[in-house]
Amino acid sequence: MVEFEYDLAIIGGGSGGLAAASKAASYGAKVLIFDYVDPTPRGITWGVGGTCVNVGCVPKKLFHRAAVMKHDMEASAEAYGLGVHEPTLDWPTLQGNVTMHIRSVNFGYRMKFTRESITYKNERAKFIDAHTLEGTDREGNKATYTADKVLVAVGCRPKYSGVPGEKELCITSDDLFKITEAPGTVLVVGASYVALECAGFLKELGFPVTVMIRSIPLRGFDREFAEAVVTDLEKRGILFIRGMTPKSYEKVTSDKEEEPKEQVKVHFGPSASSEPDAEGVFDNVLVAIGRTPLTSSIGLDKVGVTVHERSKKILTDDYEKTCVDNIYAIGDCRHGVLELTPVAIRAGHVVSENLFSRIPMGKELLKVDYKDISTTVFTPLEYSSVGLSEEAAIAKYGEDKVEVFRTQFTPLEHTVPHLDEVSTVKIVVMRTDESIPFEKSKIVGLHYSGINAGEIMQGYGVSIRRGITKDQLDETIGIHPTTAEGLLDAT
Ligand code: NDP
Repeated sequence: MVEFEYDLAIIGGGSGGLAAASKAASYGAKVLIFDYVDPTPRGITWGVGGTCVNVGCVPKKLFHRAAVMKHDMEASAEAYGLGVHEPTLDWPTLQGNVTMHIRSVNFGYRMKFTRESITYKNERAKFIDAHTLEGTDREGNKATYTADKVLVAVGCRPKYSGVPGEKELCITSDDLFKITEAPGTVLVVGASYVALECAGFLKELGFPVTVMIRSIPLRGFDREFAEAVVTDLEKRGILFIRGMTPKSYEKVTSDKEEEPKEQVKVHFGPSASSEPDAEGVFDNVLVAIGRTPLTSSIGLDKVGVTVHERSKKILTDDYEKTCVDNIYAIGDCRHGVLELTPVAIRAGHVVSENLFSRIPMGKELLKVDYKDISTTVFTPLEYSSVGLSEEAAIAKYGEDKVEVFRTQFTPLEHTVPHLDEVSTVKIVVMRTDESIPFEKSKIVGLHYSGINAGEIMQGYGVSIRRGITKDQLDETIGIHPTTAEGLLDAT
């Protein structure tokens, strides 16, 4: 039998890779984990923990929190008798404190590696063969390592469209949370989670924001809620330019300020045309047009691991195994799954559980259940959903089999300050049989917008996954006074 140095080598120290490493180590496996971040075009880099911890969910939620606090102070404090002066933002303090928190998390992971006897290498890994990896450190020194199993969890980095000047002059979400000076006027290009979340907190924190949308906002989400998120952002002062894309970017110097200031001039025009017919000048342009998997530089072709033709993400079976017997892939770089941290974590646990607890014991292998995953868009009007949108349910089951129940209400918190901010609920049900009324049919989609959306949907997500029917939801006695109880009232 061939002897390997490690039982499991993991390429990528993000949410998925870290989860797999800890789980494998808990079963006594000898684990090696590589994590290496290439700097952004602005020279920004970060520590172990991947996108979520460093430049994704964690800083995003904290900046969103600051935005929500500022809004609450401005909109509600006075009515509650609180003598809060007009809140002002000190960007360096917010950015610095968030960075400090992230560094503490990075450090925590390094400590965990020591505690759990996981070998960590800050080296760029690539396959030499299916069991051998070459690691290259920042100084260019190389070393080789062998492992019985290899898990690829390299994730994604922000995509660039190739528009002239984009890479040199624009920032992405990899840069935004690391810039130490207040961003000023911002153009956000893109219309999905990253784009709208960043646009939302920047506006709420006091920066003038414009969003350029190529087609529709929040593709894949329920249209009614996607448009409600945009309408709310518009109400808060964001300017939306629809049906347009940037055609080129140019560096310009503003002479309006005392000190000359470098800005970005954007030449843009209709999405379908390659010619610009308008322009605008911004202090920063945030490009948030999707993410590209980091699968091209790790030697997958050398070992025969196949990637999807269009997405370039790794193809696996239901057990996250690639076409090469000892190589697995999880998280954002695995084809066909939602790019979400908890999805990668679950997959990491399942792979390690299967390899080190189940295969050796001859137990039935686990699979990740990718159906009905709850998610939240943390825009100022938070929007959470689980299951199908109304449009997707109709497309899947037919109009006559689908019914929608709705409710809208003002959360108690908003009554005293008389805020015009409502919570909205949509419940999508599907009946298999005409003899069963819709009221007793299965819920296939649940949508909520309003305060605490993520916290609310987390609990309801469990029941939707379990196949709860509308009448079972109605029978549930709520907790009063909460916003969550509003989900029990849809008619
Ligand atoms: P997505 O891939 O979801 O969306 C890309 C957006 O950019 C779309 O609006 C798309 O428009 C637009 N776009 C693409 N190419 C261009 C172009 N050349 N010019 C202009 N616009 C363009 O990207 P995100 O980066 O927002 O999100 C990536 C993933 O990260 C998501 O799938 C999500 O799972 C995850 N995420 C989750 C969050 C959460 O849980 N709260 C937060 C942030 C991210 P079009 O519709 O026309 O294609």
